[in-house]
Amino acid sequence: MLTKGFSEARKAYLETRGKTASRLHAALIDMDGVLYDSMPWHARAWHRMMTETGVDCTVDEFFLYEGMTGPATIDLLFRRAFGRNAEPDEARELYARKGRYFKEYGKKIPMPGADRMMSELMRLGLRRVLVTGSAQPSLLESIDNDYPGAFSPQDRITALDVNNGKPHPEPYLRGLAKAGCMAEEAMVVENAPLGVRAGVAAGCFTVAVATGPVPLEAFEKEGAHLIVGSMEEFAFMLKSVTS
Ligand code: CA
Repeated sequence: MLTKGFSEARKAYLETRGKTASRLHAALIDMDGVLYDSMPWHARAWHRMMTETGVDCTVDEFFLYEGMTGPATIDLLFRRAFGRNAEPDEARELYARKGRYFKEYGKKIPMPGADRMMSELMRLGLRRVLVTGSAQPSLLESIDNDYPGAFSPQDRITALDVNNGKPHPEPYLRGLAKAGCMAEEAMVVENAPLGVRAGVAAGCFTVAVATGPVPLEAFEKEGAHLIVGSMEEFAFMLKSVTS
């Protein structure tokens, strides 16, 4: 799958939807791990909080849980370590603590190559919609500084806009509604297996960009239509795409 080019992968995707051609109209773009190299800091914050709580875990495993809600992640680890879910108050306190550690780690840097990816999407005339499970105000505010003109203020779906987070398709279905197009006319850009699952479930052409330590098979298992090794590689790939 890695050797497949963009157009070839999209053609194969369209065939699975029973279409021969469909113009690309919108790009639905995830934030953490796609636009920002923030996942290492999320993973470290999770690892620190959970280790303090007495849960044996690794930093890398949190890359696999990306996209799950905070309480769901806490329950998953609690069940493994203690054989029970966390109490709601306990989960709230722990998730807030994780958020404080994440904030403590300071400014998050834009993902190398993501600015070029955005430029290519703009060159192609695609409507860009931000679709993130985050409600971190600091990252959401940074978007306008780091990616000027990339997203209209109304073209953003955050954790506050949905009832069901990824891997549920709702965030991407809402993204499609914002863009006013059909699933076949949109492309999803994701870095997390659960995010890929959401994009695929929404029916969109879903690109997995491996920007972290997640094994490529995990993206394949979730049905990613195109798997790219880095954001730089994806930006370069888009250069040869014509609308
Ligand atoms: Ca992500």
